[in-house]
Amino acid sequence: MTAIDPVANLSALIRCPSVTPAEGGALTALEAMLKPLGFTIDRVMATEEGTPDIENLYARLGTGGPHLMFAGHTDVVPVGDESAWTHGPFSADIANGEMYGRGAVDMKGGIACFAAAVARHIDKHGAPEGSISFLITGDEEGPAINGTTKLLEWAAARGERWDACLVGEPTNPDQLGDMIKIGRRGSLSGTITVHGVQGHAAYPHLADSPVRGILSLTQALMDPPFDGGTDNFQPSNLEVTTIDVANKAVNVIPSKASASFNIRFNDTWDADSLKAEIIARLDRAAAESPLRPGRPPVRYDLAWSERPSHVFLTRNNALIASLSGAVEAVTGREPKLSTTGGTSDARFIKDYCPVVEFGLVGQTMHMVDERVAVADLETLTQIYETFISRWFGHAAD
Ligand SMILES: [Zn+2]
Repeated sequence: MTAIDPVANLSALIRCPSVTPAEGGALTALEAMLKPLGFTIDRVMATEEGTPDIENLYARLGTGGPHLMFAGHTDVVPVGDESAWTHGPFSADIANGEMYGRGAVDMKGGIACFAAAVARHIDKHGAPEGSISFLITGDEEGPAINGTTKLLEWAAARGERWDACLVGEPTNPDQLGDMIKIGRRGSLSGTITVHGVQGHAAYPHLADSPVRGILSLTQALMDPPFDGGTDNFQPSNLEVTTIDVANKAVNVIPSKASASFNIRFNDTWDADSLKAEIIARLDRAAAESPLRPGRPPVRYDLAWSERPSHVFLTRNNALIASLSGAVEAVTGREPKLSTTGGTSDARFIKDYCPVVEFGLVGQTMHMVDERVAVADLETLTQIYETFISRWFGHAAD
């Protein structure tokens, strides 16, 4: 039966050079896998001024509930120095039991395995009592504006509703079975600009150095810690990512200085309460800066970058138990339920249904010589197939 072999599926996908924003033939290759299984397929073009047009794919098998969604992306990051690759980044060559190619683990491999798992499920049990859909974007590694968000809106407007979602991003640090992600920290960024008065470095009383101000403000953001972590999350952490003065003259006090920061935050906060805390820290530091004895308060302004991503935690037991049980049944290992790492498109999906993430081992993602153990493709396919059976079994209870 078609699509039943995850290795064949993945090699077809890797051979499509789908570096964001190019479709590269990857969605067409996926369509060729899903159509013979009975999926109804829509290719959805998303556009927004100032960003490249992106093609996405939504495929559904079945019409009734319960409805399980698999989500992911076929776009990949650029190959980097192509001559540094041992095997071509779009070759899908297999050497020493590993398949090479950009997207092998992030995350064409996850898609290849889920398609194979569905094919095997149908082969053994017929179409599931309910629906399975693929929500696949070509804009995860890029600006993510014409991707999952718009595809979800498009599908929801047509009346699509889901009961649960599995995202196939690589979640395992070392070995298949290590880790399921059941939530993600939020992320918030901003830029502070401190305004001073330009002048001669030998006459500081006539000037006002913004460098002293930016040091006080950034110090206040980094210390003390925002919290000590919670049951399900590590402590929130703020990093100052750049401080810019751009002053080339050693005898000039500059007129302004700026700094940017990013904070990864846990469920102690939401974006609004965290913004309020950050502003309170900055105002306090501006008023009583020890670096500016006898000076008036630091004059600063703060610009938030748009779209914070919100923290979330999935508590759907049927979903987590089905997946965790499937991992354990196939690998013999009990996966850690984690909320670590960066953000993913799960942050958008969580507004529609409970979502968890499980995929391949992520060690080589975004690197030269990205590759996956061929044996892992078979194991992940078995995990996904077991998950599908268990989840529909649970949902029918
Ligand atoms: Zn990815």
